[in-house]
Amino acid sequence: MPVDATLPYDDNNIFARILRGEIPCREVYRDAHALAFHDINPQAPTHILVIPTGAYVSWDDFSARGSEAEIAGFVRAVGEVARAAGMVEPGYRLLANIGPDSHQEVPHLHVHIFAGRPLGPMLAR
Ligand code: 5GP
Repeated sequence: MPVDATLPYDDNNIFARILRGEIPCREVYRDAHALAFHDINPQAPTHILVIPTGAYVSWDDFSARGSEAEIAGFVRAVGEVARAAGMVEPGYRLLANIGPDSHQEVPHLHVHIFAGRPLGPMLAR
């Protein structure tokens, strides 16, 4: 069910529970500002999600309320995950869904990293 990204943060969303260790994930990276793990339903040979450790509903929320340190730390973590996985030379795609038209399903900001094959057109036509 797509989420309304203007709603307040829900502490019990699935990614909040993963951050607290209540639900397992296939972790690939963690630091003070970000956690990265494999998507449970991969849409590409490599499909990793990177989430901020802070409580932000979406990119909209994070870009408005996140501190400079959180934003810098998160952006650097996304780049580091892709570099460490060897994605830079073949290429990769970042995607963040925000709100109903994008079909955001989990109300905690996540950036999808897709890689491992030619990824085709930017959007389904
Ligand atoms: P959205 O549509 O919100 O941008 O993407 C949510 C993503 O979270 C989907 O790609 C979905 O497969 C993934 N996802 C949902 N629940 C879980 C979970 O419990 N664990 C993991 N690793 N990924 C999940």
